[in-house]
Amino acid sequence: MSELLELDREHVWHPYSPMPGTSRPLLVESARGVRLQLAGGTELVDGMSSWWAAIHGYRHPVLDRAVREQVDRMSHVMFGGLTHEPAIRLATRLAGLTSLPHVFLADSGSVSVEVAIKMCLQYWRCTGQPAKRRLLTWRGGYHGDTWHPMSVCDPEGGMHHLWRGVLPEQIHADAPPTEHRGSYVDHLAGLIAEHAAELAAVIVEPVVQGAGGMRFHSPRYLRDLRELCDEHDVLLIFDEIATGFGRTGELFAADHAGVRPDVLCLGKALTGGYLTMAATLCTGRIAAGIPALAHGPTFMGNPLAAAVANASLDVLLDQDWRGEVKRIEAALRTGLEPARGLPGVVDVRVLGAIGVVQLGRQVDLARATEVAVRHGVWLRPFRDLIYTMPPYITGDDDLARITAAVIAAAQEG
Ligand SMILES: *Cc1c(COP(=O)(O)O)cnc(C)c1O
Repeated sequence: MSELLELDREHVWHPYSPMPGTSRPLLVESARGVRLQLAGGTELVDGMSSWWAAIHGYRHPVLDRAVREQVDRMSHVMFGGLTHEPAIRLATRLAGLTSLPHVFLADSGSVSVEVAIKMCLQYWRCTGQPAKRRLLTWRGGYHGDTWHPMSVCDPEGGMHHLWRGVLPEQIHADAPPTEHRGSYVDHLAGLIAEHAAELAAVIVEPVVQGAGGMRFHSPRYLRDLRELCDEHDVLLIFDEIATGFGRTGELFAADHAGVRPDVLCLGKALTGGYLTMAATLCTGRIAAGIPALAHGPTFMGNPLAAAVANASLDVLLDQDWRGEVKRIEAALRTGLEPARGLPGVVDVRVLGAIGVVQLGRQVDLARATEVAVRHGVWLRPFRDLIYTMPPYITGDDDLARITAAVIAAAQEG
């Protein structure tokens, strides 16, 4: 085990980490249900769903079977000139669920955001308005780590200063307040009106901003954005890579407001956390304006990923997912409430199966991780945030364990 970790430190990049590594990652040997099994025998309850993805937990029998059956047919074929049932079924189902008829199956969330932006830019180029090529977003967002997505991440959290002069400069509105405020709508309206001639699209995460700061905002802002975009002929992109598939209590976060975007990005939980796949969906108007979309990744529409995504949708939609998310929401509210009184805690917020404790200081990551592990829980805090989005199958005892670990990490971490 120590030999493997030594090789890991020497050769393997981890997210947002230096090389060679300075922190010691935990070595996972297997996972089942909501538990990660570490080398050495320790078991941890996963409070992170492997970054929003593993909504049904690990080694779910239906998902496992879907992957095995697909391996026995084909693991991959190119998507240029060929097609296959898993991708056709998946695209058709996603179109039905979102009322967006056209689906591009990309290979990661960041790429799906690139594709969304490319769709919008290409649409305006091909319909005679090439000046419309900039994007507007609000601060506090996160849209991925490749180039254009980075340009619409929060300028500070996304370290725009590191990239000044090379990153496309987009228009950043203030971060959305939690409550609906007319003054903030005026702020958005002013920016959109001022820049309409050069704006291709507005891109936001609806209702919950994830990796940019785990902030929640009123769904009414989505209706405001829809109206403003329509008024000024600007396209609207919703990035639901984190919020999609029930996490916020609605199947898609935009459903809290009943708003349909022009372009939608899905990812993370799309395959139940099994394989990397994301989707960019758009309206008929956009597809009709683009002669041929200039994008085509090697692993586009990967059959294994599409098959397990179909199985994940079966499992999700065949159960009372809304009831499960409500149950988790109630447990997180009860379990995290005591954090409100702790010194150093500035906010506790819960929405759907998402629970957040915000501190008035940076979390000591190594220490907070150690405290959570001592409580038998896997958490991955960032900045001033200790948060959890557990798999939907997490039982009440394990939820109590997770919230106790979050509170302990907030106290000691
Ligand atoms: C994770 C995430 C992305 C990026 O997805 P990757 O699969 O990591 O490339 C983009 N947008 C949002 C909202 C995300 O949460």
